[in-house]
Amino acid sequence: MKDIITIDGPSGAGKSTIARLLAKRLGYKYLDTGALYRAVAWKIKQDNINTEDKESLIGALSKINITFDGEKIMANGTDITSDIRTPEISELSSKVSVIPIIRDYLFTIQREIGLRGKTVIEGRDIGTVIFPEAENKFFLDASFEERGRRRHKELKEKGGEVSLKDTINDITARDNRDSTRQSAPLKKTGDMVYIDSSNLTVEEVIAKIMASLRTS
Ligand code: C5P
Repeated sequence: MKDIITIDGPSGAGKSTIARLLAKRLGYKYLDTGALYRAVAWKIKQDNINTEDKESLIGALSKINITFDGEKIMANGTDITSDIRTPEISELSSKVSVIPIIRDYLFTIQREIGLRGKTVIEGRDIGTVIFPEAENKFFLDASFEERGRRRHKELKEKGGEVSLKDTINDITARDNRDSTRQSAPLKKTGDMVYIDSSNLTVEEVIAKIMASLRTS
């Protein structure tokens, strides 16, 4: 399957920036799967759902209609694009993403979106679970320090008041959870092209990806 380009990797490795730009250059659609997990977390918080209670969780998921157009993320017609970017939703999305009911629910949505046509999809389990048959798979990484710095800069630009230390702690906790969970953990497999972006510019990362793409 050559129509799907998957980019997996830890928080703050630059996946969203790279995936969005790559999609634009290639004329592909872009799917940020982290935004879907964040939307579910937002709904859980909004409705005060007890995630231990399977019935209420299934009920909440059946009532949420998430759409993503490459820029805006909407939940039942409400634009939640900026509401899902708070440290609180980052933490909650990481916690709820270990729940298999939620992963199964989002599996179907991600497959449906990807199968509509040429798409760059980024997340944690895209090349392993969502589109294992994709032929263009990348694992984007960066050092802890660099990822912490990037995330911190992003939060500050949005007016957040978090320290660099707290941001690094938050990233470390989320990475641990993502890599050690039972259901679809973040992992690099042999069929992914590994790119460490710590000392690379956005253009250099894009060039590396472009150089290894198999499109015919
Ligand atoms: O990428 P982002 O930080 O927006 O993702 C939010 C959270 O959603 C992550 O911390 C991760 O736990 C979870 N996630 C996931 N699988 C994906 C994408 C995101 O578990 N494919």
